[in-house]
Amino acid sequence: MSCFFCKGMLQEQTSNFMVDVDNCFIIVKNVPSRVCSQCGEISYTDEVADKLERIVKEVRKAVSEVAIVNYQDSVA
Ligand SMILES: [Zn+2]
Repeated sequence: MSCFFCKGMLQEQTSNFMVDVDNCFIIVKNVPSRVCSQCGEISYTDEVADKLERIVKEVRKAVSEVAIVNYQDSVA
């Protein structure tokens, strides 16, 4: 598996996912991801991307400004 952008080596590691939804800032910590050792580009598997989407939707309903959640603790 190599980087889509620079063909660098991808390394499996956890990272933080941040998104801004309608002025609500959501941070998801410890997300399993693949990080390029050359350019730092972060990508996710389809499974992880789906779960992130569900977490963001759930959190957005409950929080109005800023939320920090742990991917590993989420059951979304
Ligand atoms: Zn890269």
